[in-house]
Amino acid sequence: MYTASENSEQESFRDSIATINKEGKRSWIYPKKPSGRYYNARTILSFVMLAIFFGGPFMQVNGHPLMLFNVIERKFILLGIPFWPQDFFLFGFAMLTFIVFIILFTVIFGRVFCGWVCPQTIFMEMVFRKIEYWIEGDYKEQKKLDAAEWTMEKSLRKSAKFSVFFLISFLIANTFLAYIIGFDKLKLLAIDGPGKHIGGFLSLVVFTGIFFLVYTRFREQACIVVCPYGRLQGVLLDRNSMVVGYDYVRGEKRGKIRKNEKREMGDCIDCHLCVNVCPTGIDIRNGTQMECINCTACIDACDGVMDRVGFKRGLIRYTSENIIASKAKFRFTPRIIGYSVVLLILLTTLSSLLAFRSDVETTLLRTPGMLYQNLDQGRISNLYSIQIVNKTFKNIPVTFRVKEPVGNILFIGKEIKNLKEQSMEEAVLFIIVQRSELKKIKTPLVLEVISDGKVIDEVKTNFMGPQGSRQ
Ligand code: SF4
Ligand code: SF4
Repeated sequence: MYTASENSEQESFRDSIATINKEGKRSWIYPKKPSGRYYNARTILSFVMLAIFFGGPFMQVNGHPLMLFNVIERKFILLGIPFWPQDFFLFGFAMLTFIVFIILFTVIFGRVFCGWVCPQTIFMEMVFRKIEYWIEGDYKEQKKLDAAEWTMEKSLRKSAKFSVFFLISFLIANTFLAYIIGFDKLKLLAIDGPGKHIGGFLSLVVFTGIFFLVYTRFREQACIVVCPYGRLQGVLLDRNSMVVGYDYVRGEKRGKIRKNEKREMGDCIDCHLCVNVCPTGIDIRNGTQMECINCTACIDACDGVMDRVGFKRGLIRYTSENIIASKAKFRFTPRIIGYSVVLLILLTTLSSLLAFRSDVETTLLRTPGMLYQNLDQGRISNLYSIQIVNKTFKNIPVTFRVKEPVGNILFIGKEIKNLKEQSMEEAVLFIIVQRSELKKIKTPLVLEVISDGKVIDEVKTNFMGPQGSRQ
């Protein structure tokens, strides 16, 4: 991180955050409406992201949701592939890979994620803020409206804003819930009414309330106070990280521009526009700060100013401290190389785990507390419980074979012959083995699950028998 000045007086901005005033109360931020090339690009990208978010629950693959995160019933579908709690290690691994990716990405590109694709920024800046500008006007009008006495006009504007905010929060809550319980169940909630789906209805109320409060009151505090990613910036960024930065070498010493006066100062004309547009209320000229979400509004604002006064664009731009300070070029640091190697290993392992993930998963457990049983004709049996999960969206006919040692299976009660799509079957069975096949008290046993003549899963356990069985 860099500071524009070593002067401790100018460092005082680090003593508190911009959204807290001297009395320790919330200082409301009224950011000026941004405009410019980055803002336009972010608007287009946000439309795409919003379309994906709101369209997600409707997207289906072969009649099944594209994405489902049903934590209640422990059903998960990612890109049309169903995952079961048995695949939890894959989730854990994917999360680990994702975290390393985020760290690596942040070390190189700073908080690009926050400004361009974070749902909080997209909803706040590209949805709710735009509506606020539309109903209440730009930042000066908003300030004036908030400071004014309650009149009919103020009441109308405020109620219109909060009504629209509530409706959008309700819409987001519905979509969010659809990702958890699935669109079909959400539809049932709408058709049957809250009485029959009290859990779903309460979730909808809670989610709507949370989203409404976040976007009407909490706003930038979510990024500054709550978001763990934001809090980690201090340790993730270094002097080579690309951030939205102010070129203090070029900009200082800042000062107002005067007509017909030969300028002997830096390029910053101290117009404060970069501060006025900032949704977290900071002055980027003080250096990279934890509150900066890399939204690029200050780049657009400053580029506009530079165009107007005839200076080169890019006084605030995507850059790094080293590039500003020493005009150095981007280079791969040992930290970047180290993270890349770890990431590569994790990605390769994750791809292999996903590629070799079986369609069915079998668990075979010997009934606890039971020894072997002596049968006639020199046979020994062990009692097992079997659990078999079909993770696919198709029915799978199955048979079982004791591969090692050679033996037979005898189901007690229901026999598992067919695995219905996305289901788990359980049964109890005896495995019967000739005494002569057993080498010791505990013999390794391999059971194969076969479908259409192919072995689709294999499970290992032990078979108990009398000591010194093989003669
Ligand atoms: S917008 Fe640019 S010129 Fe104006 S104060 Fe900010 S850095 Fe200086
Ligand atoms: S400093 Fe610039 S990039 Fe950072 S949050 Fe403020 S306006 Fe956005």
